[in-house]
Amino acid sequence: MIRTRFAPSPTGYAHVGNIRTALFAYLVARHAGGKFILRLEDTDKNREVDGADDYILNAVKVLGMPYDEGPDIGGPHAPYRQSQRLETYRVWADKLIASGRAYADPLTAEEIQKFRDEANAAKKPFLYRNHRPTTFDAPADWYGQAALRFRSDPQAYQWHDEVMGDLSAGPEVIDDFVLIKSDGYPTYNFAHVVDDAEMECTHIIRGQEFLPSVPNYLNLYAALDLTPPIMATVPHILNEAGNKKLGKRDGAKDALEYLRDGYLLEALINFIASLGWNDGTEQEIFSLDELIAKFSLERVQKSGARFDEKRLAWMNGQWIKRLDLGELHARTVGCSEGKVVSGQPPNFWGPAGQGASAERQREVLSVVVDRLKTLADLPALSEYFFARPEPNWTMVDENKQLQKIPGPDRLLLLQTAATELAKIESVDWQAENLQNKLNELLEQTNSKPPILFGLIRFALTWAPFSPGLPETCVLLGRDETLARLDIASNQIGK
Ligand code: GLU
Repeated sequence: MIRTRFAPSPTGYAHVGNIRTALFAYLVARHAGGKFILRLEDTDKNREVDGADDYILNAVKVLGMPYDEGPDIGGPHAPYRQSQRLETYRVWADKLIASGRAYADPLTAEEIQKFRDEANAAKKPFLYRNHRPTTFDAPADWYGQAALRFRSDPQAYQWHDEVMGDLSAGPEVIDDFVLIKSDGYPTYNFAHVVDDAEMECTHIIRGQEFLPSVPNYLNLYAALDLTPPIMATVPHILNEAGNKKLGKRDGAKDALEYLRDGYLLEALINFIASLGWNDGTEQEIFSLDELIAKFSLERVQKSGARFDEKRLAWMNGQWIKRLDLGELHARTVGCSEGKVVSGQPPNFWGPAGQGASAERQREVLSVVVDRLKTLADLPALSEYFFARPEPNWTMVDENKQLQKIPGPDRLLLLQTAATELAKIESVDWQAENLQNKLNELLEQTNSKPPILFGLIRFALTWAPFSPGLPETCVLLGRDETLARLDIASNQIGK
């Protein structure tokens, strides 16, 4: 039974790098029909951020990766929060003390610093094990008083990483690392080895920052008589230029923020999965189900993955076109399949659009969908359907085609358009008839589409982008279309 885990530390928000690790672990588990576990690694009290634990748990759920065992839902190996497992780490630590493989650190911080400085001065690497005490034990009251260190057994290692391939390291990297700090909390180095064993995790999927420590973990596994899980190290995520690790300054946001900014969940997950993985074909668009079916660690690349937001935007456009109108509409009002999920995006409609019926919103959505890049574009593309916009003549004056047309000509064009369109009766107010009429109008006025249609578009929408004119007229209705043409004409007339 494959069991993978996502083991976030509650030190901040749902960084895309962490979410990618979670996703890969989720996909490996679901692909194999195994279990996906969420474990909170909250043993570094200095780095902990208030509320980050709940935030991350919620993010993993909102992002569509329900876990089978976790801090809030329990499971056969509960608790899943390391700060509630301190007793367990002590039991394992006691085993190491009993077998002579752990000792209470007798040195003070100052003494350690002195040894470190000496090693630096001699241009030698500092190794703690060179300063070990000669007898290894721990006084009965070590816990909460002194740090407990691992008594390492330096040796060379060769191991296999599912992504990075066959790796090796010499004995010089093996050292006596801290297992339990003097505050009684375990280190990551110790706690994750214990928990992965107790929770029967078959795979460790994690970031590259842990790779240098793996030989030390292997040393600890041996001391504990444990078989290490399968390890898979995911490549770094690089900035857009691909020349350094992605940092906050490169614009990478909290994963949930992308949803709030109007990216669809499907697009975001598709994009995050593609950070270091492809299926070996040209296919770029994958649903979550397809990812589950096709994902394998073997196809995760070793080299860094570029974080290209333009690609995310492109995927978003693809997914916006793929969702059926009803589902897309559900996303625009801040829910999915009728359910409102906390932490999920807001209602994306503008103030007037929010006041409209769902039916009317769907009608509008169906004509603006082709121009939507993110759901956050909705107000700009749709408010004018719900409320009469304020004319903004600078838009016309700044338009390359229209700025050349003098006022009296603009007036004539708009008046002619109004007169001609008014000849279409309400019952015939349909896209095809409107298109024909507009074409006739083009000949009649001896004008060009960017000029005639551009001007009418502005008069109807006062928006930089709008759907095709016939569709716009249909949605506005005959009366409103003619009224808006009139208003614009009157303003030029003044
Ligand atoms: N708590 C570690 C982190 O957040 C987890 C690393 C792991 O997956 O083992 O980076």
